[in-house]
Amino acid sequence: MKSVTYTTNPGDRFNRLVVIEKADLPRLKGRWHCLCDCGARSIVHYWQLHTGGTKSCGCLTRERAARDSQRRAAAELLLPPTGEARRRSFSAERLRALLVLDDSTGIFRWRVDRSIKTRAGDVAGTRARNGRHLIKVDSFVYTRANLVWLYVTGAWPKHEIDHINSVRDDDRFSNLRDVDRTTNQQNMRSAFRNNKSTGLLGVSTEGRPGKFFARIRANGKSFRLGCYSTAEEAHQVYVDAKRRLHKGCTL
Ligand SMILES: [Zn+2]
Repeated sequence: MKSVTYTTNPGDRFNRLVVIEKADLPRLKGRWHCLCDCGARSIVHYWQLHTGGTKSCGCLTRERAARDSQRRAAAELLLPPTGEARRRSFSAERLRALLVLDDSTGIFRWRVDRSIKTRAGDVAGTRARNGRHLIKVDSFVYTRANLVWLYVTGAWPKHEIDHINSVRDDDRFSNLRDVDRTTNQQNMRSAFRNNKSTGLLGVSTEGRPGKFFARIRANGKSFRLGCYSTAEEAHQVYVDAKRRLHKGCTL
């Protein structure tokens, strides 16, 4: 086996490092003070210098890491969006190119033939069981209300689309508003189907036949509005309170 001897002298250059002088360190032999091109000094073992294990004070690695992360970030920008971002990347321009909106009814019709069954001029989408009208386009399903909003304003709604008259497939733009969830839920017009005792919003017999209690929730609290002898009376009190307390109320 051939043995190799390395000679190291002041002034020798190894990549970015120039040797200055031998380091006088107890128990650590063979190390040299070096000056890096960037101006920093470091102490390096001669073996690392000769084999190229150390090429700089560390600035080379830092620069390469910064360059790599910039390259990765640039590559990510070029990737197509995924998930919700991809859903939202469906633009008003693309929408207007594919569909034409009848303002007076809130109904979209296709501008172009979509398939053997779906032809230009056909009403787009179908009414879902929850009452909303849905349209599938570019492999995503959207509510028609959201698409009407996008079509008219050129931007996706910031919050949720609320139907002012509570008819979930009445997607005329004049019937839509972009509201936060609380406001949307305040725009309830009829009682839940499980409110069997009266069927009126805000009224309950609370298990006592012949008595009608009005109650309203606002700002996270429940308020009693009194006991009445008819359901209609209690409901009217509730509606009056609702108009004052719920900014989303359209009753
Ligand atoms: Zn350096």
